[in-house]
Amino acid sequence: MSEGRSARLPFDPSPAAMREMAAAVSEYLIQRTASIASRPVDGEGGQREVARRLRAAPPEEGRDFAAVFAELGEAIEHSYEFGSPGYLAYIPGGGFFTSALGDFLAQGVNKYVGVSALAPAMVQIEENVLRWMQSLFDFPATARGILTTGGSMANFSAVATARNDRLGEDLREATYYVTDQVHACVRKSARLVGLERRAARVVLTDADWRMDASALREMVRADRAAGRRPFLVVGSAGTTNTGAIDPLPEIAAIAAEEGLWFHADAAYGGFFQLTARGRQRLAGIERADSITLDPHKGMFLPYGIGALLVRDGQALRAAHHEAAAYLQDLGEAEELPHYNEYSPELSRDARGLRVWLPLALHGVAAFREALDEKLDLTAWLDQELARDPRLELPWRPQLTVVPFRRRGGDDAANQCLLDRINAVRRIFLSSTLLAGRFTLRACIVVHRTHRDRVEEAARIIRTAAAADG
Ligand SMILES: *Cc1c(COP(=O)(O)O)cnc(C)c1O
Repeated sequence: MSEGRSARLPFDPSPAAMREMAAAVSEYLIQRTASIASRPVDGEGGQREVARRLRAAPPEEGRDFAAVFAELGEAIEHSYEFGSPGYLAYIPGGGFFTSALGDFLAQGVNKYVGVSALAPAMVQIEENVLRWMQSLFDFPATARGILTTGGSMANFSAVATARNDRLGEDLREATYYVTDQVHACVRKSARLVGLERRAARVVLTDADWRMDASALREMVRADRAAGRRPFLVVGSAGTTNTGAIDPLPEIAAIAAEEGLWFHADAAYGGFFQLTARGRQRLAGIERADSITLDPHKGMFLPYGIGALLVRDGQALRAAHHEAAAYLQDLGEAEELPHYNEYSPELSRDARGLRVWLPLALHGVAAFREALDEKLDLTAWLDQELARDPRLELPWRPQLTVVPFRRRGGDDAANQCLLDRINAVRRIFLSSTLLAGRFTLRACIVVHRTHRDRVEEAARIIRTAAAADG
């Protein structure tokens, strides 16, 4: 069939057409997975031009699948390869087939999980995922959780819950406590729940970018004495910049003494709890009132999946529940929660399958071992770079971020170093500012990153550092 003259594709295509399209997509994914390691980590060149070329309104009549699919392929090839073993920038979401398959299935059958009455077994599967996450942190049976689209939305619901639980409707003089290393979405969330910008109180950090707990205590007391209303402290369980873990046991103790809600933002670091080293480093997190996790980081899943766990499940519900007459037939939730009562969302995808299917097919041990490997690789890279006199590594990695700079180099020299490293196109790093200084970082969170690529990364970085002074 030539393009433009094909018969209209029915919304429910013929079995043969469905088979053909699904097979093409699946074959494409199989080939991409096999070749991702050898592709340039920054994708094919000319990305902006391709983006511009694809600018178009939808056609009045549908087009041929092959032509449309070819265009999509072009868009995909002209993008960074976030799942490449060389992608060490930001905090990547690698993504893999079994998770995508879970999504395909979930969307294909389109079951409704915003309430528990209509697809209880599907809700149970999502609840299994959440209960498993809660068990990692020894949360009680009265805890509840929600799957979100990411860490930002999980933090948003956490801040909304803390606000509702500790302040009620009166936000006057409210203050919350973070460090300058906290993820920006926490401050964004505070604004979205109606807090003034000045409600954010920035606690000092120590030499390793960890919250200074005694400074926190003093600040809370001084604020209270001045008539303010401290209600929330957010501890980072792995900051985005450097992977720093705030002193969680001390924060938990202060929060308990001072009546603050203790939220642990473990979007990046939380799943290291699966490993012995991670559990040791994250000690104290099990005392948090709420925890944010990002399976699209620490479980290597595709973007679009976060989680919030709340120790007191009723506090989560109290912050989010609104009754609606048009839902009256659904009845009260009994064994299983109506998730819409615990989250800002009503209608949404059955996103539990995206986590559950990989867990069911690969098993928990596979994730534990992969995370352990990333900790080993990070320690190796840190030591390897530290041996180079041209590089400066002032902070030992607490998780899987290795921050470094050119020794004695100014910001321009470090920008140049970054550009030179990324120009090789085998690894891709990003940068940040630490105490106002340009700093490079290598973050190892793609499941495909193994020893060979990390050794190559060390060679590329050291060669780039040797290239000029
Ligand atoms: C990534 C990250 C977030 C935001 O999560 P998204 O999934 O990107 O919305 C929040 N906190 C920390 C510590 C993060 O690393």
